[in-house]
Amino acid sequence: MELNANIPSGPIEKKWDKHRFEMKLVNPANKRKYSVIVVGTGLAGGAGAASMAELGYNVKVFCYQDSARRAHSIAAQGGINAAKNYHNDGDSVFRLFYDTVKGGDYRSREANVYRLAEVSNNIIDQCVAQGVPFAREYGGGLDNRSFGGALVSRTFYARGQTGQQLLLGAYQALMRQVGLGKVAMFTRHEMLELIVVDGRARGIVARDMVTGKLETHIADAVVLATGGYGNVFYLATYAKGCNGSAAWRAYKKGAAFANPCFTQIHPTCIPVHGEYQSKLTLMSESLRNDGRIWVPKSPDETRAPGQIPEDERDYYLERMYPTFGNLSPRDISSRAAKRVCDEGRGVGPGKRGVYLDFADAIGRLGKDAIEEKYGNLFEMYERITDEDPYTVPMRIYPASHYTMGGLWVDYNLMSTIPGLHVIGEANFSDHGANRLGASALMQGLADGYFVIPYTIGNYLAAHKFEEIPDDHPEVRAAVESVDAMTKKLLSIKGTKTVTEFHRELGHIMWEHCGMGRNRAALEEALQMIPALREEFWQNVNVPGSADELNQGLEMAGRVADFMELGELMCLDALEREESCGAHFREEHQTEEGEALRNDADFAHVAAWEYAGEGKKPIRNVEPLEFEYVPLQTRSYK
Ligand SMILES: Cc1cc2nc3c(=O)[nH]c(=O)nc-3n(C[C@H](O)[C@H](O)[C@H](O)COP(=O)(O)OP(=O)(O)OC[C@H]3O[C@@H](n4cnc5c(N)ncnc54)[C@H](O)[C@@H]3O)c2cc1C
Repeated sequence: MELNANIPSGPIEKKWDKHRFEMKLVNPANKRKYSVIVVGTGLAGGAGAASMAELGYNVKVFCYQDSARRAHSIAAQGGINAAKNYHNDGDSVFRLFYDTVKGGDYRSREANVYRLAEVSNNIIDQCVAQGVPFAREYGGGLDNRSFGGALVSRTFYARGQTGQQLLLGAYQALMRQVGLGKVAMFTRHEMLELIVVDGRARGIVARDMVTGKLETHIADAVVLATGGYGNVFYLATYAKGCNGSAAWRAYKKGAAFANPCFTQIHPTCIPVHGEYQSKLTLMSESLRNDGRIWVPKSPDETRAPGQIPEDERDYYLERMYPTFGNLSPRDISSRAAKRVCDEGRGVGPGKRGVYLDFADAIGRLGKDAIEEKYGNLFEMYERITDEDPYTVPMRIYPASHYTMGGLWVDYNLMSTIPGLHVIGEANFSDHGANRLGASALMQGLADGYFVIPYTIGNYLAAHKFEEIPDDHPEVRAAVESVDAMTKKLLSIKGTKTVTEFHRELGHIMWEHCGMGRNRAALEEALQMIPALREEFWQNVNVPGSADELNQGLEMAGRVADFMELGELMCLDALEREESCGAHFREEHQTEEGEALRNDADFAHVAAWEYAGEGKKPIRNVEPLEFEYVPLQTRSYK
């Protein structure tokens, strides 16, 4: 497999401009002759589909929810980064680029990250023009707050509902195009297969989730904007429906899967409270602007938090990382929380929690100020835990939250299948081994509003597209493979539910491929997962039929894919013999317990190639070069 990143030549700050000039253009009058399928209506897909339709392309958009507006992006709370430097606190495009490369522990592509930082400012302008109600300061300017891994305030926000407000903006833009007839919207449709003809992505097979009918849709190019696969851990902050199936099925058709083991465990989630829990809730990182994280110094502590004197508390992030303190990056903060809990100093049931305490901030700024900034998050916390965080510290613990890994894409956001583009969380592109807070919304909207509208034209203008009839052998084969899998799932009639299998898989992944990984545990997982998968295909019970609304069937297909993807994650984690960012191999750490990279052997992207059923996938490598942010050991001290 060839991995040509197609990075333009020249100085980094000129690459995108130069590339935009050199890319082929489609004559405006010809744009209506081209069609594009976009799978996903989150910030990446919604923005991309609206922008391409605005340019004149005919776009078909798919999502599995009943409205484009319910994409998981709506859950994003804290904010979106941009290098506007409104606060005059030293920010710049270069600093955002630098922080992102460093934050990702030098495992991302410099050229892509620079472009991301460059277009970050356009995103804010675009969203303001759409009417997104960003928080404002008294004088009317847009307000900013700080997120982890940065010493400047560059995060734009709309209270604790930033994703929702941004998605409403993208949704309006999208629905405008639906109204104009440029976008055909297919809600409650799940893409189950990619159609590849003559080596190019030309369409999808989708199931109408209400009637069960399998449909084929053909276009000149396909864009996947299907989000991340962090629900492989079962318990996660993701919406329950998020899954990796679209990406996985594209992988099996020839799209390389990059760095699958790079998964983010977010430090501030409400801790697990029972075996039958199905979902975890995030407490936004923005809370770390004002909340202080601590545990008791003594593992034998039994007093209520308010009764523990200051000198018997360990504000461990402030102690270990005095420069970044409570705003240390997520990978570092999560591991530190695990460490103090492993020492027996955790709080709450099972002692798997740490305090996030607002007493100082309330004393300094007053309750009203805190309520104004974080009111909806505090309310959410109280509803879930029945504790009032204005008077008792929150309890938090790390949980699966984001996937830096994803389908490999080049500078044009095209995968290794020509014509298949991948945007947003579904691609691997910009965050290396660790994503900084508030950078996912930035990347999704950068890809959707400001990158794909250009690069899709470059692809379309360079090729001719034959008509593909419905009875084309590749189309028929794609439909038959979906049909066969559906029939097989429904025919097993075993004794265990899909959820039981998913929970077991999640447990294996969390224990063996979670915050800490080592060779023995990963090798064990690589025995356990195939055994569980074998049992799944012998003993799963999927009730109902294929020609009706059947959520059990939907889940079964997704969990079947997670079982395979989970195995690839463990393999990737095993072969990456270093620690970097969120990938912490316990064998590779400094004396102080920090990640120890191995740049000589692993300063690269691992892009896995499907080799066929039952065969070990092939590990391809894209070397990474660091010209502008020289390789160095990350330090947040
Ligand atoms: C609780 C929470 C809070 C967060 N807060 C922030 C934040 O403050 N700032 C930040 O930068 N990031 C945040 N993130 C991360 C960020 O929200 C996501 O990374 C981002 O929204 C992903 O956007 P997306 O468009 O790539 O995918 P998504 O929003 O996940 O959208 C995926 C779309 O694909 C569709 N889809 C998927 N598979 C199929 C299929 N097979 N067939 C048809 N349709 C399909 C879905 O229907 C959906 O429309 C947060 C994440 C969580 C979980």
